Amino acid sequence: MKSVLNQQQNNTLQELLGRGFEQFAHLEKFTTAHVGGPADAVCIANDSAALERICTLLWQWQVPFRVLGKGSNILVSDVGLHEVAIINRSKTIRFDKESNPPTVFAESGVNFGGLARQAAIHGLSGLEWVNSVPGTVGGGVYGNAGAHGSDTQQSLMMADILHPIHGKQQVPASEMHYEYRSSIYKRNKEQVIILSATFRLEQSTRELVEAKMASFSEHRQNTQPPGASLGSMFKNPPGDYAGRLIEAAGLKGTKIGGAEISSKHANFFLNDESATAQDIYQLIELARTTVKQKFNCDLELEIELIGDWTKSNADALEKK
Ligand SMILES: Cc1cc2nc3c(=O)[nH]c(=O)nc-3n(C[C@H](O)[C@H](O)[C@H](O)COP(=O)(O)OP(=O)(O)OC[C@H]3O[C@@H](n4cnc5c(N)ncnc54)[C@H](O)[C@@H]3O)c2cc1C
Repeated sequence: MKSVLNQQQNNTLQELLGRGFEQFAHLEKFTTAHVGGPADAVCIANDSAALERICTLLWQWQVPFRVLGKGSNILVSDVGLHEVAIINRSKTIRFDKESNPPTVFAESGVNFGGLARQAAIHGLSGLEWVNSVPGTVGGGVYGNAGAHGSDTQQSLMMADILHPIHGKQQVPASEMHYEYRSSIYKRNKEQVIILSATFRLEQSTRELVEAKMASFSEHRQNTQPPGASLGSMFKNPPGDYAGRLIEAAGLKGTKIGGAEISSKHANFFLNDESATAQDIYQLIELARTTVKQKFNCDLELEIELIGDWTKSNADALEKK
């Protein structure tokens, strides 16, 4: 299939990014589930300026693209992504311990858990919950990541956003219209780029913050499986838990190809490193239909399906 980029556009991106530009690169190495076919091109953005530059060029050229962080909340089809994938590795962090309240500014490619651990070193509290969430700040702001009774919206003050028409804007958290694992951008599928975010913190001590993070990590180790996955596959329906419903439907341990519904936590679907995206997708469909039949409950995906899911994935696999 013809790429979304023409030769001149390929050359421009190659000149701009050097080894950070690759045509028809497989996305499996950029996702935590370790599955996914090729994107027409992959661009690595090492700072906000590069991220802004690449997005602006692609908007000017009217080339479809998507910014990815750690790929920990997306299932990319085996057919792949007929777009440009920008992998966001911007990493600047600045603490302001003297302001009231203390704050931290982070570029959107910063590892969100790493940011929490740095805050701990400064004796600053507020982000302990994100310690074991494997995504970036951008992914967290986009999807209102949360755990252990907290979420992104509780600490976010504002984000710097790049908009295709309005350019750069500072958007306060109140304008993200956050809901459970969702923002207005995620719900409306509106393409804006989160460049950076500023979070409100609280003075504490390193010992207290690290102790809280350790107890959260211990809880995770006891309740969630290790291995390649996307974390929680479905949102918890009101008043219940997706994992409890899938387990009660008798699906714990069910395998399709190299994918398995974890026997430790039924809302985690694991890749034994031989799974295809289609194996995982079939488990999603099985869980949805079985839970619907047995409990009349519609499970809503927490993760996003990315790429082409209309074409038969089997065709793509044959060509692999
Ligand atoms: C083992 C495991 C445990 C997990 N535990 C949790 C948990 O406890 N709580 C929780 O909420 N989630 C959890 N997750 C899911 C995931 O880590 C979060 O949703 C995370 O916030 C996704 O961030 P990411 O950088 O990986 O985003 P990606 O998966 O790369 O992208 C997700 C979406 O965000 C968009 N996006 C990413 N960056 C930007 C940006 N800069 N600008 C605009 N859009 C952007 C992408 O285009 C895509 O639509 C877990 C996942 C795993 C694998």
